[in-house]
Amino acid sequence: MKVIKTVKELQTEIAAMKKSGLSVGLVPTMGALHAGHISLVKRSVEENDVTVVSIFVNPTQFNDKNDLLKYPRTLEADCLLLQQAGVAIAFAPSVEEVYPEPDTRSFSYAPLDTVMEGAFRPGHFNGVCQVVSKLFDMVKPDKAYFGEKDFQQLAIIREMTRQLELPLEIVGCPIMRESDGLAMSSRNTRLSEAERETALNISRVLFESQRYAINHSLLETKSFVEQGIAAVEGLKLEYYEIVDARTMQTVQSWDEAEGIVGCITVFCGEVRLIDNIRYK
Ligand code: AMP
Repeated sequence: MKVIKTVKELQTEIAAMKKSGLSVGLVPTMGALHAGHISLVKRSVEENDVTVVSIFVNPTQFNDKNDLLKYPRTLEADCLLLQQAGVAIAFAPSVEEVYPEPDTRSFSYAPLDTVMEGAFRPGHFNGVCQVVSKLFDMVKPDKAYFGEKDFQQLAIIREMTRQLELPLEIVGCPIMRESDGLAMSSRNTRLSEAERETALNISRVLFESQRYAINHSLLETKSFVEQGIAAVEGLKLEYYEIVDARTMQTVQSWDEAEGIVGCITVFCGEVRLIDNIRYK
Protein backbone atom coordinates (compact mmCIF):
# COMPACT_ATOMS: atom_id res chain seq x y z
CA MET A 1 0.00 0.00 0.00
CA LYS A 2 1.25 3.47 -0.85
CA VAL A 3 0.70 6.32 1.59
CA ILE A 4 0.44 9.47 -0.51
CA LYS A 5 0.41 13.01 0.83
CA THR A 6 0.33 15.19 -2.27
CA VAL A 7 -2.30 15.66 -4.97
CA LYS A 8 0.39 15.56 -7.65
CA GLU A 9 1.67 12.14 -6.62
CA LEU A 10 -1.89 10.87 -6.25
CA GLN A 11 -2.78 11.98 -9.74
CA THR A 12 0.33 10.35 -11.24
CA GLU A 13 -0.61 7.04 -9.61
CA ILE A 14 -4.26 7.30 -10.65
CA ALA A 15 -3.33 8.13 -14.25
CA ALA A 16 -1.14 5.01 -14.43
CA MET A 17 -3.92 2.84 -13.02
CA LYS A 18 -6.50 4.24 -15.40
CA LYS A 19 -4.11 3.73 -18.31
CA SER A 20 -3.86 0.06 -17.38
CA GLY A 21 -7.65 -0.13 -17.47
CA LEU A 22 -8.03 -0.71 -13.72
CA SER A 23 -11.29 0.25 -12.04
CA VAL A 24 -10.94 2.53 -9.01
CA GLY A 25 -13.03 2.58 -5.82
CA LEU A 26 -12.85 5.52 -3.41
CA VAL A 27 -13.70 5.54 0.30
CA PRO A 28 -13.56 9.06 1.76
CA THR A 29 -12.92 9.13 5.54
CA MET A 30 -11.70 11.42 8.28
CA GLY A 31 -9.55 8.65 9.77
CA ALA A 32 -9.61 7.20 13.30
CA LEU A 33 -10.78 4.14 11.42
CA HIS A 34 -13.00 1.45 12.92
CA ALA A 35 -14.85 -1.60 11.63
CA GLY A 36 -17.58 0.64 10.15
CA HIS A 37 -15.08 2.29 7.83
CA ILE A 38 -13.46 -1.07 7.08
CA SER A 39 -16.81 -2.51 5.94
CA LEU A 40 -16.91 0.19 3.22
CA VAL A 41 -13.28 -0.50 2.35
CA LYS A 42 -13.87 -4.26 2.04
CA ARG A 43 -16.85 -3.67 -0.24
CA SER A 44 -14.72 -1.42 -2.45
CA VAL A 45 -11.84 -3.92 -2.52
CA GLU A 46 -14.33 -6.60 -3.63
CA GLU A 47 -15.91 -4.49 -6.35
CA ASN A 48 -12.92 -2.65 -7.86
CA ASP A 49 -9.41 -3.47 -9.10
CA VAL A 50 -7.87 -0.85 -6.80
CA THR A 51 -9.15 1.01 -3.77
CA VAL A 52 -8.14 4.49 -2.64
CA VAL A 53 -9.00 5.54 0.90
CA SER A 54 -8.69 9.21 1.78
CA ILE A 55 -7.94 10.22 5.35
CA PHE A 56 -8.57 13.91 5.79
CA VAL A 57 -10.16 15.78 8.68
CA ASN A 58 -11.87 18.39 6.55
CA PRO A 59 -11.93 21.76 8.34
CA THR A 60 -14.62 23.25 6.10
CA GLN A 61 -17.27 20.83 7.35
CA PHE A 62 -16.76 21.62 11.04
CA ASN A 63 -18.90 24.45 12.33
CA ASP A 64 -17.58 23.85 15.86
CA LYS A 65 -13.85 24.64 16.32
CA ASN A 66 -13.65 22.54 19.46
CA ASP A 67 -15.04 19.51 17.65
CA LEU A 68 -12.38 19.94 14.92
CA LEU A 69 -9.59 20.31 17.50
CA LYS A 70 -10.72 17.26 19.46
CA TYR A 71 -11.30 15.06 16.42
CA PRO A 72 -9.17 11.89 16.93
CA ARG A 73 -6.18 11.43 14.61
CA THR A 74 -4.52 8.00 14.40
CA LEU A 75 -2.81 7.87 10.99
CA GLU A 76 -0.35 5.06 11.76
CA ALA A 77 -2.99 2.67 13.10
CA ASP A 78 -5.30 3.63 10.21
CA CYS A 79 -2.66 2.74 7.62
CA LEU A 80 -2.10 -0.65 9.24
CA LEU A 81 -5.83 -1.45 9.03
CA LEU A 82 -6.02 -0.29 5.41
CA GLN A 83 -2.99 -2.33 4.39
CA GLN A 84 -4.56 -5.45 5.94
CA ALA A 85 -7.80 -4.75 4.06
CA GLY A 86 -6.04 -4.74 0.67
CA VAL A 87 -6.09 -1.01 -0.09
CA ALA A 88 -3.77 0.23 -2.87
CA ILE A 89 -3.49 3.88 -1.82
CA ALA A 90 -4.05 5.72 1.45
CA PHE A 91 -4.30 9.40 0.57
CA ALA A 92 -3.58 11.54 3.63
CA PRO A 93 -3.07 15.13 2.47
CA SER A 94 -2.50 18.28 4.54
CA VAL A 95 -5.12 21.04 4.65
CA GLU A 96 -2.92 23.21 2.38
CA GLU A 97 -2.74 20.39 -0.15
CA VAL A 98 -6.53 20.11 -0.41
CA TYR A 99 -7.19 23.84 -0.07
CA PRO A 100 -4.24 25.72 -1.63
CA GLU A 101 -6.66 28.62 -1.67
CA PRO A 102 -9.96 29.06 0.19
CA ASP A 103 -12.81 27.14 -1.41
CA THR A 104 -15.51 29.70 -2.14
CA ARG A 105 -17.86 27.33 -3.94
CA SER A 106 -21.28 26.91 -2.46
CA PHE A 107 -23.47 23.88 -2.83
CA SER A 108 -27.12 23.87 -2.07
CA TYR A 109 -29.43 20.90 -2.37
CA ALA A 110 -32.52 22.22 -0.68
CA PRO A 111 -34.62 20.83 0.81
CA LEU A 112 -32.31 17.85 1.43
CA ASP A 113 -29.66 19.92 3.19
CA THR A 114 -31.78 22.44 5.09
CA VAL A 115 -33.15 20.03 7.72
CA MET A 116 -31.62 17.99 10.57
CA GLU A 117 -27.78 18.13 10.30
CA GLY A 118 -28.14 20.96 7.80
CA ALA A 119 -30.18 23.01 10.27
CA PHE A 120 -28.11 22.22 13.37
CA ARG A 121 -24.66 22.43 11.74
CA PRO A 122 -24.80 25.46 9.42
CA GLY A 123 -22.31 25.12 6.56
CA HIS A 124 -21.59 21.47 7.37
CA PHE A 125 -22.93 19.97 4.14
CA ASN A 126 -21.40 22.74 2.07
CA GLY A 127 -18.01 21.70 3.48
CA VAL A 128 -18.78 18.03 2.86
CA CYS A 129 -19.68 18.76 -0.78
CA GLN A 130 -16.53 20.88 -1.21
CA VAL A 131 -14.20 18.14 -0.05
CA VAL A 132 -16.06 15.23 -1.66
CA SER A 133 -16.26 16.98 -5.04
CA LYS A 134 -12.51 17.71 -4.84
CA LEU A 135 -11.77 14.08 -3.97
CA PHE A 136 -13.96 12.87 -6.84
CA ASP A 137 -12.04 15.17 -9.16
CA MET A 138 -8.62 14.05 -7.88
CA VAL A 139 -9.31 10.30 -7.82
CA LYS A 140 -11.86 9.99 -10.68
CA PRO A 141 -13.30 6.85 -9.09
CA ASP A 142 -15.68 4.46 -10.83
CA LYS A 143 -17.46 3.93 -7.52
CA ALA A 144 -17.43 5.79 -4.20
CA TYR A 145 -18.59 4.31 -0.90
CA PHE A 146 -20.51 6.06 1.89
CA GLY A 147 -22.12 4.78 5.08
CA GLU A 148 -25.84 4.91 5.86
CA LYS A 149 -24.70 5.94 9.35
CA ASP A 150 -24.63 9.45 7.85
CA PHE A 151 -27.96 8.96 6.15
CA GLN A 152 -28.60 12.57 5.16
CA GLN A 153 -25.03 12.98 3.90
CA LEU A 154 -25.47 9.97 1.63
CA ALA A 155 -28.65 11.47 0.14
CA ILE A 156 -26.89 14.80 -0.48
CA ILE A 157 -23.84 13.18 -2.10
CA ARG A 158 -26.16 11.20 -4.38
CA GLU A 159 -27.94 14.43 -5.32
CA MET A 160 -24.68 16.32 -5.91
CA THR A 161 -23.44 13.49 -8.16
CA ARG A 162 -26.71 13.52 -10.07
CA GLN A 163 -26.90 17.29 -10.51
CA LEU A 164 -23.24 17.65 -11.52
CA GLU A 165 -23.61 14.60 -13.79
CA LEU A 166 -20.45 13.06 -12.33
CA PRO A 167 -19.55 9.79 -14.04
CA LEU A 168 -19.43 7.53 -10.99
CA GLU A 169 -21.66 5.29 -8.92
CA ILE A 170 -22.42 6.12 -5.29
CA VAL A 171 -22.66 3.00 -3.15
CA GLY A 172 -24.45 3.20 0.23
CA CYS A 173 -23.36 0.72 2.92
CA PRO A 174 -25.24 -0.39 6.08
CA ILE A 175 -24.47 0.92 9.59
CA MET A 176 -21.96 -1.18 11.52
CA ARG A 177 -22.64 -1.47 15.24
CA GLU A 178 -20.72 -2.61 18.30
CA SER A 179 -21.95 -5.98 19.59
CA ASP A 180 -24.23 -4.19 22.08
CA GLY A 181 -25.82 -2.03 19.36
CA LEU A 182 -23.99 1.32 19.63
CA ALA A 183 -23.33 2.66 16.13
CA MET A 184 -19.58 2.66 15.49
CA SER A 185 -18.12 6.15 15.31
CA SER A 186 -14.68 7.73 15.54
CA ARG A 187 -16.20 9.98 18.20
CA ASN A 188 -16.93 6.98 20.46
CA THR A 189 -13.26 7.04 21.49
CA ARG A 190 -13.97 10.36 23.22
CA LEU A 191 -16.56 8.78 25.54
CA SER A 192 -15.56 7.93 29.12
CA GLU A 193 -16.38 4.42 30.31
CA ALA A 194 -19.53 5.69 32.04
CA GLU A 195 -20.59 7.73 28.98
CA ARG A 196 -20.05 4.68 26.78
CA GLU A 197 -22.62 2.83 28.93
CA THR A 198 -25.03 5.78 28.73
CA ALA A 199 -24.60 6.08 24.95
CA LEU A 200 -25.80 2.53 24.51
CA ASN A 201 -29.32 3.76 25.32
CA ILE A 202 -29.50 5.57 21.97
CA SER A 203 -29.55 2.39 19.87
CA ARG A 204 -31.58 0.59 22.55
CA VAL A 205 -34.39 3.16 22.32
CA LEU A 206 -34.22 3.15 18.50
CA PHE A 207 -34.50 -0.64 18.31
CA GLU A 208 -37.34 -0.65 20.85
CA SER A 209 -39.11 1.99 18.76
CA GLN A 210 -38.89 -0.28 15.71
CA ARG A 211 -40.97 -2.88 17.60
CA TYR A 212 -43.24 -0.19 19.10
CA ALA A 213 -43.90 1.21 15.60
CA ILE A 214 -45.55 -2.02 14.47
CA ASN A 215 -48.79 -1.15 16.30
CA HIS A 216 -48.46 2.59 16.96
CA SER A 217 -48.76 5.71 14.83
CA LEU A 218 -45.75 7.60 13.53
CA LEU A 219 -46.30 10.50 15.93
CA GLU A 220 -46.65 8.12 18.88
CA THR A 221 -43.40 6.47 17.82
CA LYS A 222 -41.67 9.85 17.62
CA SER A 223 -42.78 10.65 21.20
CA PHE A 224 -41.72 7.18 22.32
CA VAL A 225 -38.14 7.89 21.19
CA GLU A 226 -38.07 11.46 22.53
CA GLN A 227 -39.32 10.30 25.94
CA GLY A 228 -37.04 7.27 25.92
CA ILE A 229 -33.98 9.49 25.43
CA ALA A 230 -35.20 12.13 27.90
CA ALA A 231 -35.50 9.41 30.56
CA VAL A 232 -31.76 8.66 30.38
CA GLU A 233 -29.60 10.82 32.60
CA GLY A 234 -26.56 12.06 30.67
CA LEU A 235 -28.19 12.12 27.25
CA LYS A 236 -29.43 15.33 25.68
CA LEU A 237 -31.52 15.04 22.54
CA GLU A 238 -30.71 17.55 19.79
CA TYR A 239 -33.32 16.26 17.37
CA TYR A 240 -35.27 13.18 16.42
CA GLU A 241 -37.00 13.32 13.05
CA ILE A 242 -38.90 10.61 11.24
CA VAL A 243 -38.38 11.34 7.55
CA ASP A 244 -39.02 10.23 4.00
CA ALA A 245 -35.85 8.25 3.17
CA ARG A 246 -35.68 9.94 -0.24
CA THR A 247 -36.45 13.58 0.51
CA MET A 248 -35.33 13.87 4.17
CA GLN A 249 -38.56 15.72 4.94
CA THR A 250 -40.56 14.85 8.04
CA VAL A 251 -43.63 12.70 7.55
CA GLN A 252 -46.70 12.46 9.75
CA SER A 253 -47.94 8.96 9.02
CA TRP A 254 -46.50 5.60 8.00
CA ASP A 255 -48.20 5.61 4.60
CA GLU A 256 -46.85 9.02 3.58
CA ALA A 257 -43.64 7.65 2.02
CA GLU A 258 -42.26 4.44 0.57
CA GLY A 259 -39.15 4.43 2.76
CA ILE A 260 -39.15 5.90 6.28
CA VAL A 261 -36.13 6.46 8.53
CA GLY A 262 -35.78 7.91 12.02
CA CYS A 263 -32.70 10.14 12.36
CA ILE A 264 -31.36 11.07 15.77
CA THR A 265 -28.64 13.30 17.20
CA VAL A 266 -27.84 13.12 20.87
CA PHE A 267 -25.19 14.69 23.07
CA CYS A 268 -23.61 12.26 25.48
CA GLY A 269 -21.60 14.58 27.71
CA GLU A 270 -19.72 16.75 25.19
CA VAL A 271 -19.77 14.18 22.42
CA ARG A 272 -22.30 14.56 19.64
CA LEU A 273 -23.49 11.18 18.39
CA ILE A 274 -25.74 10.39 15.43
CA ASP A 275 -27.66 7.26 14.54
CA ASN A 276 -30.70 6.23 12.52
CA ILE A 277 -33.18 3.42 12.15
CA ARG A 278 -35.31 2.15 9.25
CA TYR A 279 -39.03 1.78 9.88
CA LYS A 280 -39.91 0.75 6.35
P1 AMP B 1 -16.14 9.64 8.71
O1 AMP B 1 -14.71 9.23 8.87
O2 AMP B 1 -16.89 9.70 9.99
O3 AMP B 1 -16.30 10.85 7.84
O4 AMP B 1 -16.83 8.46 7.92
C1 AMP B 1 -16.35 8.05 6.66
C2 AMP B 1 -17.37 7.14 6.02
O5 AMP B 1 -17.59 6.00 6.84
C3 AMP B 1 -18.74 7.84 5.88
O6 AMP B 1 -19.30 7.49 4.61
C4 AMP B 1 -19.53 7.26 7.02
O7 AMP B 1 -20.92 7.24 6.78
C5 AMP B 1 -18.97 5.86 7.10
N1 AMP B 1 -19.19 5.31 8.44
C6 AMP B 1 -18.85 5.87 9.62
N2 AMP B 1 -19.28 5.11 10.65
C7 AMP B 1 -19.92 4.06 10.10
C8 AMP B 1 -20.61 2.91 10.62
N3 AMP B 1 -20.74 2.71 11.93
N4 AMP B 1 -21.17 2.04 9.74
C9 AMP B 1 -21.06 2.25 8.41
N5 AMP B 1 -20.43 3.29 7.86
C10 AMP B 1 -19.87 4.18 8.67
